[in-house]
Amino acid sequence: MAKKMVYSFGSIKTDGTAEMKELLGGKGANLAEMANLGMPVPPGFTITTEVCTHFSANEGAYPKGIQQQVEKGLVLLEKEMGKKFGDQENPLLLSVRSGARASMPGMMDTILNLGLNDTTVAGMAAKAENPRFAWDCYRRFIQMYGDVVLGVRPKTESDRDPFEVILTALKKKRKANLDVDLTAEDLMELVAKYKAMMKKDFKIAFPEDPWEQLWGAISAVFQSWNNERAFIYRRLNDIPDEWGTAVNIQSMVFGNMGETSGTGVAFTRDPASGENVFYGEFLMNAQGEDVVAGIRTPQPISELEKVMPKPYKQLLAIRKKLEKHYHDMQDVEFTIEDGKLFMLQTRAGKRTGFAAVRMAVDMVEERLIKKEEALLRIDPNALNQFLQPVFDFADKKKAAGSNLRIAKGLAAGPGAAAGKIFFTSEALEAAKHANPKESYILVREETSPEDIKGMEAAVGILTARGGMTSHAALVARQMGKVCVVGCAELEIDYKKKIMTVEGRKENLKEGDSISVDGFTGEVFASAIKTNPSEVIQVLVNKKKKADKAPVYQTFAKVMGWADAARTLNVRTNADQPDQSANAVALGAEGIGLCRTEHMFFGEGRILKFRAMIMAENEKDRRDALKKLLPMQRRDFEGIFKAMAGRPVTIRTLDPPLHEFLPHTKDEMKELAAELGVSLKKVQQRADDLKESNPMLGHRGCRLGMTYPEIVEMQAQAIIEAAINVNKKFKLNIVPEIMIPLVSHINELKRQAAIVRETAEKVFKAKKTTVEYMVGTMIELPRAALTADEIAQEAEFFSFGTNDLTQTTFGLSRDDAGTFLREYLADGILDSEPFASVDVNGVGQLMKIGVEKGRSTRDDLKVGICGEHGGDPKSVEFCHNLGLNYVSCSPFRVPIARLAAAQAALKDMPAPKKKAPAKKKAVKKPAKKAVKKTTKTKK
Ligand code: PEP
Ligand code: MG
Repeated sequence: MAKKMVYSFGSIKTDGTAEMKELLGGKGANLAEMANLGMPVPPGFTITTEVCTHFSANEGAYPKGIQQQVEKGLVLLEKEMGKKFGDQENPLLLSVRSGARASMPGMMDTILNLGLNDTTVAGMAAKAENPRFAWDCYRRFIQMYGDVVLGVRPKTESDRDPFEVILTALKKKRKANLDVDLTAEDLMELVAKYKAMMKKDFKIAFPEDPWEQLWGAISAVFQSWNNERAFIYRRLNDIPDEWGTAVNIQSMVFGNMGETSGTGVAFTRDPASGENVFYGEFLMNAQGEDVVAGIRTPQPISELEKVMPKPYKQLLAIRKKLEKHYHDMQDVEFTIEDGKLFMLQTRAGKRTGFAAVRMAVDMVEERLIKKEEALLRIDPNALNQFLQPVFDFADKKKAAGSNLRIAKGLAAGPGAAAGKIFFTSEALEAAKHANPKESYILVREETSPEDIKGMEAAVGILTARGGMTSHAALVARQMGKVCVVGCAELEIDYKKKIMTVEGRKENLKEGDSISVDGFTGEVFASAIKTNPSEVIQVLVNKKKKADKAPVYQTFAKVMGWADAARTLNVRTNADQPDQSANAVALGAEGIGLCRTEHMFFGEGRILKFRAMIMAENEKDRRDALKKLLPMQRRDFEGIFKAMAGRPVTIRTLDPPLHEFLPHTKDEMKELAAELGVSLKKVQQRADDLKESNPMLGHRGCRLGMTYPEIVEMQAQAIIEAAINVNKKFKLNIVPEIMIPLVSHINELKRQAAIVRETAEKVFKAKKTTVEYMVGTMIELPRAALTADEIAQEAEFFSFGTNDLTQTTFGLSRDDAGTFLREYLADGILDSEPFASVDVNGVGQLMKIGVEKGRSTRDDLKVGICGEHGGDPKSVEFCHNLGLNYVSCSPFRVPIARLAAAQAALKDMPAPKKKAPAKKKAVKKPAKKAVKKTTKTKK
């Protein structure tokens, strides 16, 4: 017997449950669940995701037995609806929709009103009170089927939809404002015109056979799993290609039957702010795609109470029941057919980062979920939205006062964005490619899934049409982009690349600056200054009081829960006192990497540093270093003070020296004059130092090997600063001095000896001591592989995963960008290895490094300070590896804190292992031993 591939749902029989998402996709599983809960769901069946996988792997061939199962499923449908598929008098119409395991809004295809042809439409028209309705369904079906299945669509981006062209022309001829103003006869004419256009321009005959239509639609939906936009969406959202989509075939219910019918989408809470209010919109006498596509602007859901009180009350009850059942905010689609409510879909609703956090906190307080669940539910990257800029109040007021506020749409994605406008995704992407530092805003009549790349590249999105649940709104919210939709005052001319604004003379053209307020929906014809978020204002700038900042309060609650749950410490990469203070305000528990070279770029520093580089002998170098010593010491004092006793890891000089020398002739001339040497001499020195492989060349500890006096100066500055600050502020700073780019134990031995000898000298001179540690970065494969040897000397390790990734892959972090992008687009690599730890390669080296290091020194403190330290997935990997801390840039600290909490919570059910005994105990995963040290020592 063939495997079960078709699962029914409805009042006669429901095979599935909410737990079967892998097989039935999210939509199919939830339709089954709603049927199980006794909610009014139009009956249907789901073809499993396994069929999609088979279909994709076998060039569109179906597994054996599928046809019989689909036919059987349809019989059940016909029975429940009392209608027959393809029947001349009482035809059953179907919807055919995609539904993957994870929701991919708008990325795959949907067909509605399937089963209509020249015969069935007549039967349906004869049966209906108003034949217009049947012809409206038919013209919609041809339009949708033509586009999705038969490929009748615009040939270029600036072309108009061929069906829309015919529709608009007819409306104009009939002086009809809206689609609903067209009569049955008009629609009949439209159908004939559609078919003629398809024949003439596309050489396609519309299929009349309902079964041919059905299999065409099923195949199109399966194929849409592999279309480009779905592929990009999966890349952006980490959805594996193997999952496949299910296909849901459901009997049609009609929101376009007349004034007692309608359709809508709603969220059980506000998806933008997170507020606990029923939120959504509806359109009377319309079908679902009218709401989502943003073609007509819908009414807010609260208005439904006046228009159709009974279904509204029923919806409110369903809203409550769904939240209680799913313990989460739901996004539902519904249709009212002649006063009767039907639920077409429920799923966990997409939400802004703000809303995700607020809902999670509210639901804990409403006792719907536990704190742990709340923490696991928030995407750590969503916290970015709490740390995003808002408009400078005065600047915005000035813009409003100067008559620069040009329009107001619906606020669909919070935040403040200012940038140059572009009217197509391609043009915006090209501009961004040419000048990545500039900010851009994508302006479209309405977006479609093809715009996903442009939206990703923009800071803000503005559309002229569409509602809060239009494509632009949904996708932008999910991306965390500022978004304003339905801005009806705008008229866009794609050909001329201009936008006109109702009531204003001047046009805005491609490249002009505008600002978009995603909190209020306002649009301004100028670039308004933006300010940091409320959280930043409270924590970092201290410009706002915590008790007057509700957004901050919500953020702080989640951060508090996260801190209680996590075992991994979170440090920051900072090299200035103010950066360090910001990071502490955002929750950093120490500095994991202070790049000392960054300290030489400040005012009045670079020249002294260059003088040191230009020195030709040790004596001259020492003289130059003497001048740098007090500056470095002051810097370290500032950092130690800002960190107030928290651990601080300072790395000795790392980059190749040529990076600090001027590159142009003019700059060289200037340096020569300042140093009183000849231009030739400067040029000569620059030539001597020039490397073609700087990232693998004379850098890291190799500099310290050649010029030990540099390490001496830096060690002296660190130790003296620690002594001074400890004394002055009664602190107990234990500086961690870190040697970069070590590949061999002997390098570290030599460098550590320099540090220790220098420390002894300082102790003697100052007649006091300070505790300190000497450790190393693990950023070369050889260091990871010989970590047991290196740990004989190193008192701590920090994984420099930027370099470790570079040297493991053998690709340069400076110029791999171009082909890496292609690797990602082609699926050669799943994720950007410089952003998220490559677990199978770099990760293995890290594992070896931890295990070998701790086999020598079981209390070895191990952290990570590469860019990966702020990436949630990598944070989880580091937790599982048993690292003591991750270190990331200051503004990613909250993200890492939440990611660390999630990693700890996911790790909870594992049986507790005993903490290992003292030495040589870390042969197996060192996690528990590390966690123990984590609590006591950061
Ligand atoms: C690293 O290599 O991961 C690191 C943190 O050092 P840098 O980026 O300064 O080379
Ligand atoms: Mg490095």
